[in-house]
Amino acid sequence: MTEPTRIGVTGATGRMGREVIAAIADREDCAVSFAVNREPDGETVDGVGIEPAAEFDSLLTSREPDVVIDFTGPESALEYVQACTDADAGDDTTTTTAFVTGTTGFTDDQQAVLESAAESIPVLHAPNFARGVQALVNVVGDAVQNLPGYDVELVEAHHNAKRDAPSGTANRLLDEIEANGEFGDRTHGREGEAPREEDEIGVHAIRAGNVTGEHEIILAGNHEEVRLTHRAEDRGVFAAGAVDAAVWIAGAKAGSYDFADVIDA
Ligand code: NAD
Repeated sequence: MTEPTRIGVTGATGRMGREVIAAIADREDCAVSFAVNREPDGETVDGVGIEPAAEFDSLLTSREPDVVIDFTGPESALEYVQACTDADAGDDTTTTTAFVTGTTGFTDDQQAVLESAAESIPVLHAPNFARGVQALVNVVGDAVQNLPGYDVELVEAHHNAKRDAPSGTANRLLDEIEANGEFGDRTHGREGEAPREEDEIGVHAIRAGNVTGEHEIILAGNHEEVRLTHRAEDRGVFAAGAVDAAVWIAGAKAGSYDFADVIDA
């Protein structure tokens, strides 16, 4: 049997970090190499001891994980990917640690840092690791092309602690919509005298309770309406996708990858 993929987990006591550790425990082809979080205070998650994030660099050197899975925040994700590139000697003397991140809310400049890291190590960034969302990304362009001139609105809902809006998944879907039709500006919510421009795309972000993640695209016109909806019922679906991505990318060539590459493979 081939050796299990050794995975470092960041943000290990967060909502997603916990799910990632549980998803790794469910499989035989991978194992936790180490797990870190800010100020862990001697915590364990599923029996895995959580180490301080300040020790990330030394853990990379001493444990040499094949890949790191990161669900934290944009600034910390960039610190972690930078540490992975710094630890890579670029020859056979060290294990190249690939970087898989599901963190959302990167600015264009931050995105550029991820891409430059991908020149020396394999980097996979996906705003959504659910296979159903990838299917939605694949079909939404067709729907837009088939319904030219229809009004397009996107509504997304998440739990009340989500920081970025609209969600990274919403932005990914909006990019796909815009690439397949003639649209004007994105209008984020409406208030007061706000008649709809014919070509605008309305974007609405709901933040409430414990909602795991919902995205709905409405295409309406000609006395008819099409709604394309994805609803994540459990965070485990994202964790399972991220672990699939980690096992797939370990040992890959340096470069920038996305979740579609994992599914296609
Ligand atoms: P969370 O707040 O529950 O967890 C984040 C964790 O990261 C926390 O434990 C926090 O302490 C830790 N953290 C943040 N900054 C850190 C730092 N500098 N050093 C060390 N640890 C740090 O958030 P969450 O719900 O788990 O989401 C995390 C990220 O993942 C968000 O950007 C969210 O949008 C994204 N997300 C992506 C997907 C996907 O499929 N790609 C799914 C769900 C959430």
